[in-house]
Amino acid sequence: MDFTFTPEQMDLQARARALTENHLFPYEEEVQETNALSDASRAAIRDAVLAAGFNAVNHLREDGGQEFPLVNQCLVFEEFGKATNMLGLCPWMPAYCLRFGTEDQKQQYLRPAIRGEIREAFLVTEPQSGSDAGGMLTNAVKDGDHYVINGLKCFASGSERADYMLLHCNVDGDPKKATLFLLDKGMEGFEIVKTPKALYNGPGDHPWVQLTNLRVHESKILGGIGQGFELTKDWFVEQRANIAARCVGVAIRCAEIAADWAAEREAFGRKIQDYQGIEWKLAEMAVEIMAAKALLYRCASEYDNGLDRKAAHARMSAVKLFCTEMAWRICDQSLQIQSGHGFMMDNPVARHYTSVRAERIVEGTSEIQKVIIGGQIKKRGLGVYTGLMTQPNLTGGSA
Ligand SMILES: Cc1cc2nc3c(=O)[nH]c(=O)nc-3n(C[C@H](O)[C@H](O)[C@H](O)COP(=O)(O)OP(=O)(O)OC[C@H]3O[C@@H](n4cnc5c(N)ncnc54)[C@H](O)[C@@H]3O)c2cc1C
Repeated sequence: MDFTFTPEQMDLQARARALTENHLFPYEEEVQETNALSDASRAAIRDAVLAAGFNAVNHLREDGGQEFPLVNQCLVFEEFGKATNMLGLCPWMPAYCLRFGTEDQKQQYLRPAIRGEIREAFLVTEPQSGSDAGGMLTNAVKDGDHYVINGLKCFASGSERADYMLLHCNVDGDPKKATLFLLDKGMEGFEIVKTPKALYNGPGDHPWVQLTNLRVHESKILGGIGQGFELTKDWFVEQRANIAARCVGVAIRCAEIAADWAAEREAFGRKIQDYQGIEWKLAEMAVEIMAAKALLYRCASEYDNGLDRKAAHARMSAVKLFCTEMAWRICDQSLQIQSGHGFMMDNPVARHYTSVRAERIVEGTSEIQKVIIGGQIKKRGLGVYTGLMTQPNLTGGSA
């Protein structure tokens, strides 16, 4: 077992850090002030991401992506995560499941998305069904060589700017036929009906989208009818690892700011770092980050080394749960160490405080991760999580 990173990996992370500090940090204030990112700023970030070779780190080289192993994806997303206001999401990663598209679909959507020419959004959540995606009501009915789709989606992040969208819906009202459709910008029957203001200021919105008799050609089905959930399973592993990595970045930036502050700030005639109450907070932060990184990189490495899909899915739930909750705790403690000075929005910690809250909700809430973990323990035993040196027996059942 060797957890040593290679010089190439350290260089990769250093380049990601440079991109973050030179091309994401400068836009934090703009996003905080305007709750948006101008076209010019988007273009500048896009150019920097392309120049650094960090576009579509998750996609195959044959399609124009960087094809990074998951460990390397985590190394760069740890750095991107340090940028506040969710700017860490600017280095784009088109949906993993697009690689299962037809040649025409790859040509029209995947490859231009990889090049950063078009942007996507993903429409799953509905007002009455979030975690329980099986409860969605949006439905497609066949009409000749088209499908007619009706429904209401909410929190469709980035759909206000997206050139194409992946829509998750039922066919014939049957949840067993949950299917992914590719939608194009400007289609008749597609309408943004509401844009709620989020807790944090970010580069994009989270609109509600009404679909009314939207006609989609059958060639826009990704995979096949009923493939919706199957196609998104691998994506969950990747997305949860990347969220966890960004959260490690959030925690490191917040902890560093707190440590620097505690080394300078004086109260009652002493540096506050010399009060045990503060010293212990910093110690706990350091240990939590250390544990999170060990968990994240171990599980990402197992995935790269061929851990089967069920085991990867099971373990990445634990990684996502731990890293997102850890980042939240550390952000809160960093703010507490800086107190009034940490509470103001000119402080990166205050801005992280609002956005990192979302990470415990998206891609499966913390409770849903525990449901997955609890289910695995019942089905396969604690060894799925506590087994260190060998792969637990994960045959049988589904993740
Ligand atoms: C910033 C942000 C961006 C988002 N972007 C997108 C997007 O781009 N596309 C998209 O489709 N969606 C998006 N979402 C929606 C997100 O995926 C959902 O909010 C999430 O899946 C939870 O669903 P819900 O909000 O309906 O909560 P619910 O599913 O209604 O859950 C409510 C509460 O019940 C708990 N709960 C539910 N089931 C169980 C259970 N079995 N056991 C224990 N507790 C349970 C949950 O953990 C939660 O605490 C976004 C959300 C946010 C905050």
